[in-house]
Amino acid sequence: MHKVEAPTAALRVALTVFRLALTPPRMAPREIIKLPDPRLRLVSQPVSEVDEGIRSLVADMFETMYAAPGIGLAAIQVGVPRRIVTLDLAKKDEPKTPQVVINPEILWSSEERGIYEEGCLSIPELYEEVERPAQVKVRFTDLNGTIHEVDANGLLATCLQHEIDHLNGVLFIDHLSKLKRDRIIKKFTKAAKRAEV
Ligand SMILES: [Zn+2]
Repeated sequence: MHKVEAPTAALRVALTVFRLALTPPRMAPREIIKLPDPRLRLVSQPVSEVDEGIRSLVADMFETMYAAPGIGLAAIQVGVPRRIVTLDLAKKDEPKTPQVVINPEILWSSEERGIYEEGCLSIPELYEEVERPAQVKVRFTDLNGTIHEVDANGLLATCLQHEIDHLNGVLFIDHLSKLKRDRIIKKFTKAAKRAEV
């Protein structure tokens, strides 16, 4: 039998550092804000530096998006007005393809238009056909600070435009007729009031 020494201060620090290194980024799904929450109309601010706060926000956004489930999420949809989008267009039976899009800018849009039936995690269970440019060229930064330019078409083009709209306080229902949009806003406002009671 031998006496167990209490760990020295230096050893304690080393153990803490080791433990922190082993701890994966803490992820937690966040609440998705819904129409008519006025925060959905905010213009999000650019990200100047990818720090720990941004990394953990992005981890939470993926967690939230996959749980919903959805294929795209803008930070403002979890109430954070920063120019960050998470995307994953992989189909259910395909391996995940998470993409982080920071400070996206549309550099070019085609004259040609395309129509997709769109939905939005902030406007649940509503799907409407929306017409947008069929192709776009988008510049963005990833989580490592690398700048990318993508020529997108099809679903990716639609998804990028839908999410970039969110960063500017624009919702897909803004692309519908005023009559249709007003009807939808009224319906969701009533539902929100009912949920409050
Ligand atoms: Zn949306």
